[in-house]
Amino acid sequence: MKKVYIKTFGCVQNTADSERIKTYYWDKGYEELEDWKKADLVVINTCIIRESAENRAYGLINKVNKFNTNQKIKIVVTGCLTGVALRDKSGKKLNELKNRFPMVDEFLSIDKVSYQIDPLRNKRGAALIIISSGCNNFCSYCIVPMARGKEISRPFDEIILDAKKVLDQGFREIVLIGQNVNSYGSDFSDKSDIFVHMGKKRFRSLFPKLLEEVAKLKVDKVSFLSSNPWDFSDELIEVIAKYPNIDRLLHLPFQAGDDEVLKNMNRGYAKQEYLDLVGKIKKNIKDVKISTDVIVGFPGEDEKAFLETVDVCKKIKFDIAYINKYSPRKGTVSAKLWGDEIPQSEKKRRWKILDDLVNKKILS
Ligand code: SAH
Ligand code: SF4
Repeated sequence: MKKVYIKTFGCVQNTADSERIKTYYWDKGYEELEDWKKADLVVINTCIIRESAENRAYGLINKVNKFNTNQKIKIVVTGCLTGVALRDKSGKKLNELKNRFPMVDEFLSIDKVSYQIDPLRNKRGAALIIISSGCNNFCSYCIVPMARGKEISRPFDEIILDAKKVLDQGFREIVLIGQNVNSYGSDFSDKSDIFVHMGKKRFRSLFPKLLEEVAKLKVDKVSFLSSNPWDFSDELIEVIAKYPNIDRLLHLPFQAGDDEVLKNMNRGYAKQEYLDLVGKIKKNIKDVKISTDVIVGFPGEDEKAFLETVDVCKKIKFDIAYINKYSPRKGTVSAKLWGDEIPQSEKKRRWKILDDLVNKKILS
């Protein structure tokens, strides 16, 4: 059998995609191995959310190429880097990539790897089930909508079947995955079914119903990633409260505490609305814990604005915060409008203040 090595960068969505990619190559006669130097095929599943992630992917392409003097190894690049290039209708971005990396044999679109194939899942831990792809939110700093396209929800029944299947296979935990899980199914909704939540117009979501159907199965724990504040409805809070097997650690990114920064990020909510939402969640769901994502050093974030982020952290007492230093991404609105004005040293200082406060629980 031929051998494939798959390297995954980035988020849990990429991890789940890599399980499908593994199956895709299994069907073509490849089995996976751990040592890339002995592989016939190296597949690099890329992340470009920040420049540092993008550079790690480039580093690996160059490393494999340097070793590959006799051209024995084929290199395939997939994931978000490829996504952005293939979605550019003019073909310019793909040509740029091809010219920059002539050693890459194929830029594989993740859309070509169907959800219909039963993924070779990682047997340890929880089963990852993708419920939607893409994102319609266009937060001004974020490249995901360009890399993954518009939000498309998988059919409801197909997801329930997948959940039953993984439980039959012996998994006890399920993670439902999407860039914006709690807007799941709004692409099926009757387009007249609009409501406004936290300043954003939304089509009604089927996520509470989906989560409930999964929680009713014989499953020890159901988690979901990522949810967005403006789609966190009362109905969703009710469902979580009702089923103890739904994970009590909720991931709810807030990104920044200052209202002006939030507006420029196109997040569509103000600081107080986020605090009120978490207050409501804590009141209705016993023993709930919250984790979050934050960006430090977004353009225009002065000391006063940063202290608003610190204030949110102090008030909410997050369990964990994933703190990201702002990285301008080509093609996003924030990169076009404002560049990158906060020095790296200042981003590091702010990162450490939040890390000490939230993750190390050091109170200053
Ligand atoms: N769809 C999810 C995850 C988005 S990407 C969500 O909206 O929560 C994961 C995290 O990366 C984001 O929450 C954000 O904190 C961070 N991120 C995205 N773009 C970034 C950028 N340009 N610079 C720094 N951090 C960024
Ligand atoms: Fe990016 Fe915002 Fe979509 Fe999350 S919700 S993937 S941060 S655009």
